[in-house]
Amino acid sequence: DTPQLPKPPWLRVRAPSSPGFAQTRKIMRENGLNTVCEEAACPNIGECWQKRHATMMIMGDVCTRACAFCNVATGRPGHLDSDEPRRVGDAVACLGLEHVVVTSVDRDDLADGGAHHFAETIQAIRSLSPQTTIEVLTPDFLRKDGALDIVIAARPDVFNHNLETVPGLYPKIRPGARYFHSLRLLQRAKEIDARMFTKSGIMVGLGETREAVLQVMDDLRSADVDFLTIGQYMQPTRKHAAVDRYVPPDEFESLARSAYAKGFLQVSASPLTRSSYHAGDDFRRLRAA
Ligand code: SF4
Ligand code: SF4
Repeated sequence: DTPQLPKPPWLRVRAPSSPGFAQTRKIMRENGLNTVCEEAACPNIGECWQKRHATMMIMGDVCTRACAFCNVATGRPGHLDSDEPRRVGDAVACLGLEHVVVTSVDRDDLADGGAHHFAETIQAIRSLSPQTTIEVLTPDFLRKDGALDIVIAARPDVFNHNLETVPGLYPKIRPGARYFHSLRLLQRAKEIDARMFTKSGIMVGLGETREAVLQVMDDLRSADVDFLTIGQYMQPTRKHAAVDRYVPPDEFESLARSAYAKGFLQVSASPLTRSSYHAGDDFRRLRAA
């Protein structure tokens, strides 16, 4: 166990209770779908689900990795559910989403890392909801040659892959991943299809320095990444990495200003920012600009 810091007032959120929340949950249950909102115990679930914004988590709820910040169970995942893309498509249509975020657990056990399943899910959403913009938040496809090309060929509107933290903290926080591999993945996504927006995000409060965060921004801009999210790390359980500090809101504002100055098109940086927080609003604003 690690000692826990008291939670500051800016991280307190109200318990979810709206009719929109109940309805979103019902649609997810009826379609047998997992969401990151629930698996990650996201503090924004009340707000997002009320607006019917949810992040679908495909390919099961057991992951082959064990990141020190993540609440998803680690183990041997079950078989791939080939009907899942259709059900995601149905749920998106039922929710009437303008923008959807689809992510997954890591499936290092699959030959293609789950790339075809991602592509089929994109196609299923698009066939029922052609106006819905689609954002995929993918695993790093480490040692899965060709996987990225399969996902990009399905033409998501936004390709998102999170760096999660600064490179110096990878061994502790993201032990199964490689910082420069993830960076290169983002760069290659843009090289394959320059029309697609690319996006990445990190958490702060894990012990990183401000200089290291600014360097990550420079690295992402060198890889032509368009959007950036920065949020506060919150410890899901006492077994996970401890919070080093709670970063105050004005520091997030300062990081956002630095990020815009470095050329990101869209930046979300606040204590409650998550990779998919307000993703649709931000994307619509950008397209309207
Ligand atoms: Fe779900 Fe993302 Fe909203 Fe959290 S921020 S509730 S993960 S959609
Ligand atoms: Fe969680 Fe993703 Fe890491 Fe798996 S790869 S443990 S789902 S953050």
